[in-house]
Formats: sequence, C-alpha cells, structure tokens
Amino acid sequence: MKVTRIAYSIGLNPGKYMALVEQARRLGRVRSEVWQRYGSISGVGSGLKDRQVRDRWLADGTHQRFGVLANAWKETARDAMADIAAHLASAKVEVRRAILRRTGAPAERKRMLTALKTHRWADDPFLARQMRKHWRRGKNRTHDQIVVRADQHHTLTDGHGRLWLAVPGLERRKMVRIPLSTTVAPTGTLRLILRGGRVEVHYQIDVSQMRSSQRPRGSRTIGVDKGYTEVLTDSDGEHHGTRLGELLATESDRLKQRNRRRAKLRSIANTAARRGDHRKANRIKVNNLGYVKRDRQAARHRAQVRTEIFIAVHRVVDKAATVVAEDLTKSFAGRTKLDRNVNRRLAAWTKGVTAEALTNVSERRGSALVHVNAAYPSQACHRCGSLGRRSGDRLHCTSCRVVWQADVNAAINILQRAGDPDIALHTSHHAVKQILQDRADRHRTRLPVQDSSPATAERSANHPNRSPMSN
Ligand SMILES: [Zn+2]
Repeated sequence: MKVTRIAYSIGLNPGKYMALVEQARRLGRVRSEVWQRYGSISGVGSGLKDRQVRDRWLADGTHQRFGVLANAWKETARDAMADIAAHLASAKVEVRRAILRRTGAPAERKRMLTALKTHRWADDPFLARQMRKHWRRGKNRTHDQIVVRADQHHTLTDGHGRLWLAVPGLERRKMVRIPLSTTVAPTGTLRLILRGGRVEVHYQIDVSQMRSSQRPRGSRTIGVDKGYTEVLTDSDGEHHGTRLGELLATESDRLKQRNRRRAKLRSIANTAARRGDHRKANRIKVNNLGYVKRDRQAARHRAQVRTEIFIAVHRVVDKAATVVAEDLTKSFAGRTKLDRNVNRRLAAWTKGVTAEALTNVSERRGSALVHVNAAYPSQACHRCGSLGRRSGDRLHCTSCRVVWQADVNAAINILQRAGDPDIALHTSHHAVKQILQDRADRHRTRLPVQDSSPATAERSANHPNRSPMSN
C-alpha cells in the first residue's frame, strides 16, 4: 500500500517561485486541452491511452503550442488522462448500480457489465443513457501543479545540511533548485503544488518503508470506543490520544474568533466600498481577508490532530492482533462540509480520520479490524446488559448497582459485540434495544440458564443479586 508524503519548500526565492508558477500555468493549458479533446465518451471513454495522445500531438504539432519541455507536457497529459479516467470510474460505479437495479437476469447483467467495462456502452441505449446521466463532462481546474517524472529530478545536500530539490524549468538543462524543509529526499514521481509562495512536494512511498510498520503488533483482541476528549478508550481501560480534546477545543475557539473577526472586517470593507472608498475596501481584502495564512493554520491543525490520532491507533495495535470497533465511516455520511457548526464539523472530520487510521494502521501492521454493531454501547452495562443511567463520564447500572467509567464500559461492550450471537453488524437499533432488554430481564429473574458448566462461576460472579461490587 502507498501513502502520500508532502515536503515543503523553505525560503524559496520569489523569482524561482514565479518561474515555477509560469510553468504550472502553461501546463494547466495542457491539462485543459486534454480534458477538452478527450474528456468525453469518444476520448478516454473509448479506451484511449495516454501513449496514443502523445503520438497524436507529436504528429499534428499540438505540443509546440504550450512552450514547455517535452517531458513536462507528456507527464502532464498522462496525469490529466488519469484524472479523466478516475472521473469516469466513479460514474461507472453509479451505472453499475443502475444495471443491478434494472435486471435480475444473470446473463443480461453480465452482458451489460461487460459492455460497461470494455468501453462499449454506446451501442446499448440504456447504458448510453445512464452514462450520459452520471458522467457529466468535466473540465480542468488545475493550473498550479507540475508533475515531475522520477528520472527528471534529483536532490543534493549543501554544506549546511540543507536539502535541495532540483527540477526541470522551462528551458532545457536549466534546473530550478528548491530548498526543502526536510532532510528526507522525495522519491518517485513528484507532484509540485504551488500555493501561497510555497512549493508543496507530494510524493508516494510504500508503507513498508515506514518505521512504524516495523513495530510488531500485539496478540490480543481489544475493543475500542471513540471518544471526544481522547481519540480512543480501549477495553483494558486505557485512554489513547488524550490531547485530542484540547486540540479540538483550541481550534474551535480560534475558528469562532477568526470567523467573527473576518465577518466584522468584511462588513467594514463593504461599507467602505459602498461609500466609494475602494482603496480601503481593497486593502482590507488583501491584507486582512486573504487565504494563505488561514489555510496554513488550518493545515497545521489538521496535521497535529492526524498525528495524535495515528499515534493513538498505533498504541492500540501495539497490544492487539484484532481491534474491534464500531464502523466510524457510516454515521457521518450525511454530514457535509457545509455544516456551519464548527464543533460538529470538527467532530465529523475527526471521526473520519480515526476511521482512516484504524483501517490504515491495521493494514500496515497486519492486525485485523472487526466492525461491530454500535447501538447502545455506552448506555448498556457490559456486565448485565441493562440500560443504565448516564451522568457525565459515569454510567450507573441500577441493576448491578455499580458505577462504571462510561467510555471503558463502552469499549468492553464493543469488544463483547464481536462474539455476540444475537447482535450482528446490521441488526437495527430498535432490535438491539429489544435484545438488551430481554437479556437484562432474564438476568433479573434468574431465568433460564443455570447449569453446572465451568462458566457458572464466572456467571455467578456477574450476578446482580450478589453483593454489589464497585470497580
Ligand atoms: Zn449491570
């Protein structure tokens, strides 16, 4: 598996930066040309390959219009074709669903799916209609990127230990040297993104090269519950990623303050503009309402939270061969970026990153990730199954008369769900409640299981009619 790494330029001189911006602008025209000509059913949709595009452009002289080096436009054309192909693939997912809905006949399904896969949908009226519906013609919006092939760049370290990345400029044999803020040399194909006076160098590395992946995983099965003040609580009662709450609270306060400040400035600028003072309006817009600083701060915060989350998940995998968790990708599907409540937006995003980290780290370190039904994990007592009373971070079970730490109780519930014969991943919320209530009743009335198997000792230890225990 591959992950993307980003290196940043530091102290890059403006002249070099502008030269790169110009190159990216010209390459943006290459992208636009590719989308324009091949971004449709007759182009990439018909199975056209980037190699064929190169040959065509070389034959008809298209490539001379862009004023960039050969390798640069070729890589860019390839990249744009890949963008179009991704665009197309996502449309095909929709069409595949439509096919499955339309017919249940295996032969017919197979015929249509094959036609879709082999770019022959145009002959089938239903498929052609569906493709037109789901594959809206896109256009290029990328004008700030340069893709550099692996053999076209190199790095060198200067006398001060600073790493410089050399990439081709607009003229042959004139490399542009970019000072980087890292000592790890980027490798493979690079994607340079030019933003706010800085160059971001995106590249991919194989996860097996990462240090954390060499750490052996644990051998146990551990349940985890997603928290708000910490990333995860596990079924041993350990908390991981305890700085999360503070990071989110700080960011939330900062965002709220900033939004208030910006709204005020915007209204001052608008008033000035209405009065005809366009210079003032403009000055505010440029100096106080720009995006560079804002985006940088947001990126830094995101990086901090991601680190906290990934470290937390690694800690869990340090002791687990199997991690049991609720499926965190599910419940926030409806939440969009448009949610105006800052806290809700941050929470939804954090949940997504936690889901990503669980999948990613498990895959890297070879542990299993088991998703379980997560209805009522925090309300049900893990010992007897009764729905308890929650107060703050405590859960009071009226049946066992025990107070649990709510998040630890939830993590244990999640762990137990993995082996639960009655509650499957997709059992409805309502049905889970019914099952939990039935169990609690059974517990209370001492029905029906009273046998002499070795498990009885354990069961009687859990029995509510015994003297109350406090853990
Ligand atoms: Zn209980």
